[in-house]
Formats: sequence, C-alpha cells, structure tokens
Amino acid sequence: MYKKLFIPGPTHVDDEILEAMSVPMIGHRDKLYSDLHGDVVTKLKKFLQTDGRIYLSASSSTGMMEGSLRNCVNKKALMTDCGAFSKRWVEVAQLNGKEVDVIKVDMGQATTPEMVDEYLSKGGFDSVCITHNETSTGVMNPIEDIGKLVKEKYPDVLVLVDAVSSMGGAEIKVDEWGLDVVLAGTQKAFALPPGLCVVTVSEAAFARAAEVKNKGYYFNFEVLEKYAVKDQTPATPAISLINALNVQMDRIFAEGVEKRFQRHIDMAEFVRAWTKKNFDLYSDENYLSTTVTNVDNTRGIDVVELNAELAKRGAMLSNGYGALKGKCFRIAHMGDLQVADVKWLTEQIDDILGL
Ligand SMILES: *Cc1c(COP(=O)(O)O)cnc(C)c1O
Repeated sequence: MYKKLFIPGPTHVDDEILEAMSVPMIGHRDKLYSDLHGDVVTKLKKFLQTDGRIYLSASSSTGMMEGSLRNCVNKKALMTDCGAFSKRWVEVAQLNGKEVDVIKVDMGQATTPEMVDEYLSKGGFDSVCITHNETSTGVMNPIEDIGKLVKEKYPDVLVLVDAVSSMGGAEIKVDEWGLDVVLAGTQKAFALPPGLCVVTVSEAAFARAAEVKNKGYYFNFEVLEKYAVKDQTPATPAISLINALNVQMDRIFAEGVEKRFQRHIDMAEFVRAWTKKNFDLYSDENYLSTTVTNVDNTRGIDVVELNAELAKRGAMLSNGYGALKGKCFRIAHMGDLQVADVKWLTEQIDDILGL
C-alpha cells in the first residue's frame, strides 16, 4: 500500500512531478538539453537570490558535501557538530584527508554566531561548514547571522552550507547572507525523487578551487564550470530529474515563494502545537526547524508500533535518529505537503494512541 511520507527525505512527490519524470529522453549534448539546463539554473538563481554559479550534480547531497570540501579546503575547516548530519561534514572531511576542528554543540541546541566567532578568532581556518537544518534534531541553525558575521570579520573564510533539508522550503538568500557554497539534494524540501543535487558556488569559492590540488574529477568546480558555461554537465546528467525540477520551479513560483515558506511555517506551527499538547518539543524553541519537528517521546510510546499502525492508514513518520531512536520521533512537514496533510496525520496518531 502507498504510504504518504512524513519522513525527512525522501518526501512525498506529487503526481505532476512524477509525470514530468516520464518524458522521452533527449541527448545531453543536444540543444534541447542545454535549453532545459539553462532554464532550470536561471530559475534556481532567482529562487536562491544569487548571481553566483549553480551546478547540477547527479548524486545524492553527500556527494556534493565531499565535492565542496575537496574544492574549498586548503588549510583547515571549522565544523560544528550539533547532530548526525553536521557530524557527517566532519567524517567526510577527515576521510578526504582534510584538517578540521570541531565545535561540539549539545543535541537539540543550535550553532550560534558567537560559537563560530570564538573558534575562528583562533586563526588558521580557511572555511567553516554549517548544517542549515539539522534533520536529526529538528534545529534550524541561524546561517544568516553566521554568514554575515564570517563575511564581515573573516573575509578569507569560506562559508559552506548543507541546506539539504531546508532548501526549497525555507528562505535562503545566498548572496546577501554571504554563503559561498550551498548544497541540497532534491528529495527533501524540493519534493522530487532522489538522485539530483543543486549547489551554489560563489566567486570566492570558485577562486579557492583554483588554488586547491587533488580535487578529483566528478565534483571538480573547474571541470563543472567548463561545461556549465555551455549549459551542460561533464558527465551524463540526471535528465529526468532535471526536467522534473524545471516543472517544480514553475510550480514554486506559481504558488509564490513567500507563500511556500509561509506554508512550511504554518505546518511547523501546527505540528509544534500538537506536540506540546501531547508530548514535548525536543529542541531549543528559539531555533526550531520549519521543515521537520523532533518530538520528545515523553509518553514512551512504541514508535515502531505507531508506524506500523500508520502504515495501515497510508502514512509513515520517522523514528528518532541514532541515539534518539525510540526517545524521539520526527514528523517532516516539507516539500509539497499541506497543512491539511499534517492535520490528517496527527488525527491518525491521536486515534491510534487514544489521545
Ligand atoms: C538527508 C540529509 C543529508 C544526506 O543527503 P543525501 O542526499 O542522502 O546524501 C545531509 N544533510 C542533511 C541535513 C540531510 O537532511
């Protein structure tokens, strides 16, 4: 039975998007492809408010996390560990032989500009990696304040942002906020199937890449740029997904960008109110995510059992991540889900648990 996904990726995909995936193939050196590629990139630039470069990568987001580290880190990167996904930055960097220093943040808390300032002031860093929306704890880190601080006080430090579970559902002003690299896979708030990653690259990040050795080939900004100027990609692109993204961008502008972000806020507020009434919020209330809520399982309910019951009604939510398994559960409210969807979901949970 089909289950509507209330998990933080992959997310529910609307039929119109699925249909946009099943179109006849075109050659990726054909003008038809370049027209499509150019179209999508133009729309993404408008959406993300950037005049910088945008590359489309046939990979999951983690691939481009690796790629951005390989392109941008020459000396040492500052990482923040406030949950499983920000920790991934650390692992990926280390496995690529990059030197890192890590700010350890308590689970459920946000990374603040003050923390970043304190570490960067020690010197020796050429980049800082931030996770915009920490999907494992439901915290949205203040990347606007962090980006602006870094640009003002440490202009040689690049700001690399994992916006995987926020881009498409929350506002990101790439240039104004001083973000050098911002990446996201399409299977979260863009509400497309997985397999495509979008990345923005600032002038400074591109200039850094020219200085860094051993960037590899697949995610090499210089190689990507050589083809991007022709509205192409070096290797075969995920054409079906790019076609779907083009349709999705039109739908996003048709809904209205502000309205789309507001819809996410409305869904988040609904889920938070329900959570407070029946359970508790796990994370710092000043930094709650607008795309996913981490519910503190104060009633000690069996999350696996709850999901099994929800499955019979055609829905699925997420267990707590890693150490929070069983202790928390997560309700994602991102992409093309509506307030009516999360309302329906919570009604099912109320009914199952007798709340
Ligand atoms: C899902 C997620 C990732 C991993 O993305 P993949 O596309 O699976 O590589 C990384 N960071 C965050 C914040 C995520 O939510």
